[in-house]
Amino acid sequence: MSEFDLIKRHFTRPAPSALLGVGDDAALLQVSQGEVLAVSSDMLVCGTHFFADADPFLLGHKALAVNLSDLAAMGATPRWATLAIALPGADEAWLEQFSAGFFALANQYGVDLVGGDTTRGPLNLCVTIFGEVAATQALRRSGAMPGDEIWVSGQLGDAALALAHLQGRLVLSASDFAACSVALHQPQPRVALGLALRGIASSAIDISDGLMGDLGHILDASGVGARVNFNELPVSATLRKFLDQPLGKQCVLSGGDDYELCFTAPVSGHQDVLNIAAQLGLPLTCIGNIVDGQGCIVFDAANHPINFESAGYDHFR
Ligand code: ADP
Ligand code: MG
Repeated sequence: MSEFDLIKRHFTRPAPSALLGVGDDAALLQVSQGEVLAVSSDMLVCGTHFFADADPFLLGHKALAVNLSDLAAMGATPRWATLAIALPGADEAWLEQFSAGFFALANQYGVDLVGGDTTRGPLNLCVTIFGEVAATQALRRSGAMPGDEIWVSGQLGDAALALAHLQGRLVLSASDFAACSVALHQPQPRVALGLALRGIASSAIDISDGLMGDLGHILDASGVGARVNFNELPVSATLRKFLDQPLGKQCVLSGGDDYELCFTAPVSGHQDVLNIAAQLGLPLTCIGNIVDGQGCIVFDAANHPINFESAGYDHFR
């Protein structure tokens, strides 16, 4: 199969939201009136972000999901994506599953794949996502104010717990692993939440490298500090079993791959946030407050500061 047959078969679908999609030298995209483009890229590298034998359908899902998560964190509506892919060979069965996973999620969010690049090389997936948002409504990292409440969506640490099991750093029962591995392999981007938080949240970020690291980015960008209550952090029943162990704490505070949103909102917006949680059927938990100063202090039930490895995952450390 030639490169062009491969692209045609596996990556060319109707793109009704583009003036021109796959097949020319560039796609042509029209942004809605009054909105600006929100653009983000995320790369998944075999051996770094996933194992070589990873399920291709789930990989297709995740390659797009992690990008949708970035747009969710901006409060943007996802519209288009491009896919740059390096493949060790043209494995038809693998490509079929990968593109099925990718397009299943793309269809769910009305995202059209409008271009990309295909080359031979070590397996590597890079998606660029394009969305729309009114410039004044975009959720930036820089808007947190002292007194604001800090919220997170969903539950934290399950993906890191599943990864710890796969890496042999702890042993989960089959049912516990099944429960956690969904978070690792099939993260659900919080796009509807990001859209609902426009005009309510003062700042937002998606948690891809662990709560402490990513909340830290909000604090740095906003020039503020935070107090977080460890006991308020939302965790699954499975993770709760490991919370008294250092590894369990680490999964919640600095495990990666959560793809939940962390955001701040003034206290006056507390009920609005709870209403959004009810509307979306998605738990939103207040975990602490923004304060003057810098850095984040995490308190245990007895109100003593907890020592933890503060930084998120960093590829170059
Ligand atoms: P060029 O050589 O002009 O960069 P290519 O031959 O790389 O174009 O690609 C041909 C067309 O296929 C382009 O429209 C490109 O955007 C699209 N394309 C290539 N690879 C992919 C892919 N993996 N997914 C979606 N579209 C792709
Ligand atoms: Mg090319």
